[in-house]
Amino acid sequence: MMHQMRAETDPTGATDSVVSWHIVRNADLTALCGRELEAAAPLQDATRWTVDPDHNCHTCGALFLRETPYLPDEHDEQAG
Ligand SMILES: [Zn+2]
Repeated sequence: MMHQMRAETDPTGATDSVVSWHIVRNADLTALCGRELEAAAPLQDATRWTVDPDHNCHTCGALFLRETPYLPDEHDEQAG
């Protein structure tokens, strides 16, 4: 299982305006919290979850930690 952060973007569809970050499994468009996200929305590695916590979805954070009891710093799984 690989997790990524996918951005919830501004309702105008501007993909550079990140409202909040959600967690998706692999490249899913549905966040762990159930939110549907845009395919064009920015993606970044889940290891960046702690970088800007003010913009994180709290529900996704809780579910992510349940699925991933450690942050994968030292576990270099192959992407894809
Ligand atoms: Zn979420």
